Amino acid sequence: EGERKYLVAGNWKCNGTLASNEELVKTFNEAGPIPSNVEVAICCPSVYLPQLLSSLRDDIQIGAQDCGVNDKNGAFTGEIGAFQIKDIGCDWVIIGHSERREGFEMPGETPDLCAKKTRVAIDAGLKVMFCIGEKKEQREDGTTMDVCASQLEPLAAVLTESDWSSIAIAYEPVWAIGTGLTATPEMAQETHASIRDWISQNVSADVAGKVRIQYGGSMKGANAKDLLEQPDIDGGLIGGASLTADFFNVVNGAP
Ligand code: PEP
Repeated sequence: EGERKYLVAGNWKCNGTLASNEELVKTFNEAGPIPSNVEVAICCPSVYLPQLLSSLRDDIQIGAQDCGVNDKNGAFTGEIGAFQIKDIGCDWVIIGHSERREGFEMPGETPDLCAKKTRVAIDAGLKVMFCIGEKKEQREDGTTMDVCASQLEPLAAVLTESDWSSIAIAYEPVWAIGTGLTATPEMAQETHASIRDWISQNVSADVAGKVRIQYGGSMKGANAKDLLEQPDIDGGLIGGASLTADFFNVVNGAP
């Protein structure tokens, strides 16, 4: 545990306007110091990245919520390249969020696509929060770890051991995202430990000891401390609560 710095990241999803972002940036900029054992990032809609880059406090890193799978300029209408996210000064990109894996009015992203995007993002110099997690039926069937392993396998296949220093795994049980239902700290810890064990078996013990595994799913100030106290929970990916001042209660909830 000791060597892993907590990573608490906000995922604003498709929320915000210039005006509301300005308010929230002000709230965060005035929220007091960030504990030295915590790294903080905000992933906002790509069109607002320049706004955050020029106005958000320097000790909060900034990231996008997805990137294209193309590794250079080209005829990919609507895509935003990882190299472009890096070019404007961002540090992070979220890849494989369950909402993207599920798809909206279009087919969702496959595990292989998520892995390919991650390869492209790392080659562009970005760090990646790679999301995995099971749906409600899968938890009930007892296949949680099979699902996580099937999402981790294609990732591990495209990474070298040293690439893992640019990865954080966000374990987000899909049934807990935006639902107000949180995995209990014990339930989350059990899955985090299994994920770390999978990485130890399939990558290396060294990587398993160093990689940060964030929890995501209705995490907020009121439950952050109990989750972050668990030995294998190294931070959070925060949706709803990252749109309010409560985000800093999560940041300050790290032991
Ligand atoms: C998320 O978007 O990754 C998330 C965990 O959302 P929420 O905190 O709103 O459940």
